[in-house]
Amino acid sequence: MSFTLNDLPLRDDLRGQSPYGAPQLPVDVALNTNENPYPPSPRLAKALAEAVADTALGLNRYPDRDAVYLRERLADYLGHGLDARQVWAANGSNEILQQILQAFGGPGRTAMGFEPSYAMHPVISRGTNTGWVSVPRDDRFRIDVDAALAAIAEHQPSVVFLTSPNNPTGTALDVDEIRRVAEAAPGVVVVDEAYAEFRREGTPSALTLLPEYPRLIVSRTMSKAFALAGARLGYLAAHPAVVDALQLVRLPYHLSAVTQAVAATALDHADELLSAVADLRAERDRLVDWLRERGFSVADSDANFVMFGEFADRTGVWNAMLDQKVLIREVGPPGWLRVTVGTPDEMAAFRRALLQAT
Ligand code: PMP
Repeated sequence: MSFTLNDLPLRDDLRGQSPYGAPQLPVDVALNTNENPYPPSPRLAKALAEAVADTALGLNRYPDRDAVYLRERLADYLGHGLDARQVWAANGSNEILQQILQAFGGPGRTAMGFEPSYAMHPVISRGTNTGWVSVPRDDRFRIDVDAALAAIAEHQPSVVFLTSPNNPTGTALDVDEIRRVAEAAPGVVVVDEAYAEFRREGTPSALTLLPEYPRLIVSRTMSKAFALAGARLGYLAAHPAVVDALQLVRLPYHLSAVTQAVAATALDHADELLSAVADLRAERDRLVDWLRERGFSVADSDANFVMFGEFADRTGVWNAMLDQKVLIREVGPPGWLRVTVGTPDEMAAFRRALLQAT
């Protein structure tokens, strides 16, 4: 007798849904999940291993439940006069977002996003039983702020997601756009800045607005610019009251002692870890130029990835590139694909494969 998911007493709203799933395939050139292509140096790997070895001697004890030392370090990294009371950390920014929705969303409440945007915002909303309202971006993938304000007035969302730079389009928001939304939103406004370190010169972070808006939350991650996706460390900056709220929903000891030690050690080596950011931005700008010169449409990008198109059969192009062992991402509006900026060699392989495939 075959027993499936459908035979389980699953929540009705989860029936028929698909899990998040960027393909994890064994390819030579993986340009599909916006990772930093440069691994830690052997010197840094050794420092991380030593930090883990020290931590291992105390693993019979629970970790610091409030991760205070790590939060102090993250606050120092962010600057803007922030301290540990205004910073919270979790296992990736996905867990940060989940905790935000657990605290501020939930049954009978609504979250709003401006799509195309990060697919996990609606998925985590669903998982926390929070309604989802999607407002479309304009044809340049920008948020139409007047439409946003009208949607906020209509739906009164408890949580508004602004992603800047936005995934998958790469589009960054102006501070004035964030400000207008923050003025109008009745609940919390989350600026998901997972790709903040890659933004172009002159694009300010929403961190500058925190002193003015106590319901504004800026979420960040060490998965992208910090080249630490495998360690799972996300964090946020907000008013201390927001941190108090998240402590009501977080699991005790959610952040392992190993994770805390690895992240703090990585912060000791922030300069080294972030040293590739300038090269990746330059490589991104070269990629945008190269694609445009060949007649592709390309969304302006402040991130470490580029969305380009438009293809009558994007699945065909994606598959043809995979045949050449180059894995990119089939995401975004129909006809568009997204490629993460890799090393110069990886980008050369990408360019060859794309020309072959199209
Ligand atoms: N926000 C955005 C916009 C992202 O693109 C991602 C990763 N793809 C995340 C958050 C989550 O990253 P992590 O959980 O690794 O911090």
